[in-house]
Amino acid sequence: MVTTLVRHIGELTTNDPALGDATALGRLRDAALVVDESRVLWVGPDQRAPAADHVRDVAGAAVIPGFVDSHTHLVFAGERSAEFEARMAGRPYDGGGIAATVAATRAASLEDLRAASAQRLDQLRAGGVTTVEVKSGYELSVEGEVRLLGLARELTEEATYLGAHVVPREYEHRRDDYVALAAGAMLDACAPLARWADVFCDRGAFDRDEARTVLDAARRAGLAVRLHANQLADLGAVGLALEFDAASVDHCTHVSDHDVAALGDSSTVVTLLPGAEFCTRSPYPSARRFLRAGATVALATDCNPGTSYVTSMALIIALAVREMELSPDEALWAATRGGARALRREDVGHLGVGARADYVVLDAPRAAHLAYRPGAHLVLETNRAAR
Ligand SMILES: [Zn+2]
Repeated sequence: MVTTLVRHIGELTTNDPALGDATALGRLRDAALVVDESRVLWVGPDQRAPAADHVRDVAGAAVIPGFVDSHTHLVFAGERSAEFEARMAGRPYDGGGIAATVAATRAASLEDLRAASAQRLDQLRAGGVTTVEVKSGYELSVEGEVRLLGLARELTEEATYLGAHVVPREYEHRRDDYVALAAGAMLDACAPLARWADVFCDRGAFDRDEARTVLDAARRAGLAVRLHANQLADLGAVGLALEFDAASVDHCTHVSDHDVAALGDSSTVVTLLPGAEFCTRSPYPSARRFLRAGATVALATDCNPGTSYVTSMALIIALAVREMELSPDEALWAATRGGARALRREDVGHLGVGARADYVVLDAPRAAHLAYRPGAHLVLETNRAAR
């Protein structure tokens, strides 16, 4: 075991209320941290720091837990900038949307897909992400979804089966057959590779009954459930997520007061994805509304080539503060511990003793700079523990 003392931390955010200022942020000033290759061993005031094998002096910088990006579609080929340009210019454009990415992904070699996905993961990491969820959903065939989940598994332990992303073109006139496939042979082939199952339950994707069919089968196959819900319309997806005790219900842009209250009484996390509203120039949901009801809120990038080609969690935090009524501290918590809750993980998203030694050194004296200086590259160093 090799230990490292990180010292002269100007502001340390631990997200452990037992530490520091006893808030949810568990914050300490003039602090130090001792880690080994995998875990946090000690947290406390700098002047009481124990000796370690190595010393890293961060000279007053802020240190935060690594970001937990609990919603991404990292494994895809191609790009859709023409669609984005048309949308921003208010021009009609039918480049196929998700179907265009499905076609590009199906046509890509395994090596090209692997390299493109790894490059996006590198970008996330450079921006401070240490845990990431990755979905399938861009091949929509049995062999294709298996291929994508195999690649997702190379990137993360948090791989999600999203065979029910949209109905592929070849099933356009027999969608029941596609739902049966996504809940049958495709699921059977994919389940051993995934921890989670997700469905895009929304206008233009799958309705509530179709989503229930897939989620029901996924649960029987041993997968835990999360759901794309209420991004474009309210099809009752939040109620469905609660029926399945989903770990997270993601987007939640159009949600009734009744569903907000129900989320507040549940253990299902509300994952907000402001990159999607930003990149589609759509109205943002209020995070405050969910917090007021007692719900847990997470923030994630939703990195995908159509509606949120975002690989910066700092940008997500800045947007959530500016547009979703979160304070900088609330947004930081949502992007770290909130993301961990959305993945039902207790070992990441915080820097309490025993947590994974996933921490980020900022080129700033306070974490609030993440929201205060949007667009600045403030991550000096991302430290990710050995897995
Ligand atoms: Zn998504």
